[in-house]
Amino acid sequence: MKRARGGRPVEAPADGHAIGLRGDRLEVPDDPVVPFIEGDGTGPDIWRATRAVVDAAVAKAYAGRRRIVWVEVLAGEKAHRATGEWLPAETVAAIARYRVAIKGPLTTPVGGGIRSLNVAMRQQLDLYQCIRPVRYFRGVPSPMRHPEKLDVVIFRENTEDVYAGIEWQAGTEANRRVRDFLTKEMGAEIREGSGIGIKPVSEFGSKRLVRRAIQYALVYGRPSVTIIHKGNIQKYTEGAFRDWGYAVASDEFAGEVVTEKEVWDAHGGKVPEGKVMLNDRIADNAFQQLLTRPSEYSVLATTNLNGDYLSDAAAAQVGGLGIAPGGNVGDGVALFEATHGTAPKYAGQDKVNPGSLLLSACMMLRHMGWREAADAAERAFEATIMAKVVTYDFARQLDPPVEPVKTSEFAAAIVRNL
Ligand code: NAP
Repeated sequence: MKRARGGRPVEAPADGHAIGLRGDRLEVPDDPVVPFIEGDGTGPDIWRATRAVVDAAVAKAYAGRRRIVWVEVLAGEKAHRATGEWLPAETVAAIARYRVAIKGPLTTPVGGGIRSLNVAMRQQLDLYQCIRPVRYFRGVPSPMRHPEKLDVVIFRENTEDVYAGIEWQAGTEANRRVRDFLTKEMGAEIREGSGIGIKPVSEFGSKRLVRRAIQYALVYGRPSVTIIHKGNIQKYTEGAFRDWGYAVASDEFAGEVVTEKEVWDAHGGKVPEGKVMLNDRIADNAFQQLLTRPSEYSVLATTNLNGDYLSDAAAAQVGGLGIAPGGNVGDGVALFEATHGTAPKYAGQDKVNPGSLLLSACMMLRHMGWREAADAAERAFEATIMAKVVTYDFARQLDPPVEPVKTSEFAAAIVRNL
């Protein structure tokens, strides 16, 4: 294993090859170099477990013909200790160069110049899609009676909306000037003493996100894409997101996508064979529909803030907030990550659930086209949980509670179940 040191570019290990890109498609060799950030706090524990399972699943699925050549890159506390920087430029460059990478959770430095390392990486690499698949794994404790009915993949726009960080604190000179402009020149009514934020939603940003969601549905044989928005209230941002989404479908996927309206008007309420249906739902309705009619939804495409709420709400429904996987994906570069934080109170205790990082690694394998390895790892993960071999978080929720295993023991059991 090679490690990136501050100030030195990450070189490809002699025995691996970089993933290439032809047009829109990754070209993945049998020995791809994949950079990893092990993460802070409990990161090293869950990374060790994840790597053991992934290596074993790949070896098994391809009978030793394929393997990942891991290369460590630094970010977070480990990077700061080694290089004085929280996010060395070499790390970002290595992820861009090798195209597919994975990371554990990172501590957000308090008081530093960086708002969040995760946000910084998303911005620097233009990872505009936050993809969160949410499905049920048998044996996982869930608050729902039928958690297995939910199986959605959420595409959340990752760069715009109120997350763009364009805001002015109440009482500041900048805030006064913005308020003066908006009230005096634009005729807006804004109460004195208001904090002010801007919500940019662009045609470019909306279309590229919905385009990816539709492509995903086509590639993975998913029946529908639903645009989730708050366009009834925020017409020129959320409403425009919806309209641009429909425009992408009709301009670029005319033969492959049919709208819900067309299904009713022209096809007697039945989606024509082989087509993906596109529809839209207002966000508040979407939250209740996911609870009351989960099986009617498949791929969801939404703006940044809606997507943030929706991802966690959906993950909680399948009992999987602690094992929810995620990927931040751009054009030709993708970074998969555990969606929880560093859980620092458990650091180094070999205690926490590696499920979020492991399932993110499975997303990564699918992204590379290594579906067989991903399927094998997920099946073994599920079999292990069904056998009630679980870490403390699930152990305490099971009825009756069971004795928990360590992170490393959980990983070893998954490897045995492969
Ligand atoms: P957190 O690290 O997610 O931990 C909150 C609680 O969630 C833990 O105390 C634990 O619950 C549970 N939990 C988290 N990971 C778990 C796992 N792998 N297995 C089982 N249970 C798990 O959130 P936080 O305490 O708010 O944040 C801590 C640090 O993480 C902060 O520095 C924050 O900035 C950072 N953070 C990073 C990311 C990221 O890198 N993507 C995301 C969020 C937060 P119990 O106490 O009930 O056992």
